[in-house]
Amino acid sequence: MKVFKFGGASVKDAAGVRNVARVLRHFQGEEILIVVSAMGKTTNALERVVWDWREGKHVGDQVEALRRQHLAVLGEVVPGFEEAEAWLQEYFDELGELLSGTPTDNPDQDYDQIVSYGELWSTQVVSAYLSEALGACSWMDARDLVRTDALYRAARVDWETSAELVKEQFSSGEGQEPVSYPVVTQGFMGATEEGLTTTLGREGSDFSAAIFAYLLDAGSVTIWKDVPGMFNADPNRFPDTKLLSHISYREAIELSYFGASVIHPRTLQPLQHKHIPLYVRSFVDLDAPGSTIDDRSENDSLIPSFIVKPGQVLISITPRDLSFIVEENLAHIFEVFARHRVRIDLMQNTALAFSVSVDNGPHVKPLIMELRGAYEVRYNKDVELVTVRHYDEPTLHKLTQGRELLIEQRSRNTARFVLK
Ligand code: ASP
Ligand code: MG
Repeated sequence: MKVFKFGGASVKDAAGVRNVARVLRHFQGEEILIVVSAMGKTTNALERVVWDWREGKHVGDQVEALRRQHLAVLGEVVPGFEEAEAWLQEYFDELGELLSGTPTDNPDQDYDQIVSYGELWSTQVVSAYLSEALGACSWMDARDLVRTDALYRAARVDWETSAELVKEQFSSGEGQEPVSYPVVTQGFMGATEEGLTTTLGREGSDFSAAIFAYLLDAGSVTIWKDVPGMFNADPNRFPDTKLLSHISYREAIELSYFGASVIHPRTLQPLQHKHIPLYVRSFVDLDAPGSTIDDRSENDSLIPSFIVKPGQVLISITPRDLSFIVEENLAHIFEVFARHRVRIDLMQNTALAFSVSVDNGPHVKPLIMELRGAYEVRYNKDVELVTVRHYDEPTLHKLTQGRELLIEQRSRNTARFVLK
């Protein structure tokens, strides 16, 4: 079996949905599981619905706009398919019912119950179209397949139970109808033992594809994109970017950890575990080879990769009494960061100061306020964290030239800079 993942941008309109069939025709006769994200910017729109609803605001118009968009795409790809329309409507009614109730005391739980409709709707549209275009297709509810804990918005997978659920759903035992391929299911979501919907964190559909591949012992995962594969840098920032045609899981984990946004960082681990290759390919040019990620590492160091994280804050922490930054101080500082859920992207210490670079999110201000109780804290906003893998001197020189260099760190393979 193969697992294909289509992201929100690739199914954002009727042309995108039709394109899924075009890709599938290229793989006729193969058993394929398709993991789909919410269409376009639906997840962002549903996030606004959650927060407005919890504040007691009227959200009917926002949901109505989403309903129209989805029905319009459905109407374009399968005009007059009344059953499909009614089926989609059912899920909008379900959400309407939920929204006519009252919020719970757990905002994250409410978030997951509501935001997950984006993936349910998109897979309904895609599967309705594929069953017409290809003559067969089954739709599966990811909540019947992926069992998670109840850590809403960042749920963790219960692999053993999920393996059993998947086996049940995909087996064609006696009295059971055989599964017809392609199978379409949702990325980004699962369910608790009690049957409440959970989500795996924003951009989690790549990870979902890897989860399904792991559970089904798939032969490969392909992430279909509007770009020809994984590049060594963001083409919007760097001229002459190069395709990374073959890198190892380790290298891909390093790149995504440092902020390369092509693949969700958690995707690689389950794949590496079972040696399932990951392909990143273009749905525009089906003959282009794209990028391959697997165990082989011989090409890892051939091309330097650049990852830029803008909008960082460089925070510098010094004990008020000028005592050395020692283990007790650091333990306390890390505890404060962990409690405020601020992820440290880079750190450096001198005798008197501990400096970190972090993403500038809503938790940074309260974090700084708390640290100021015990330390002198200075910070620099709007700095850039640049990581270069497999660097050479001329490229580093070009990169840092004319910029104010606040921090520089180098290991054998990786150079990192905080630049103003
Ligand atoms: N729809 C979800 C999001 O936008 C999951 C995904 O796209 O991977 O975050
Ligand atoms: Mg998305």
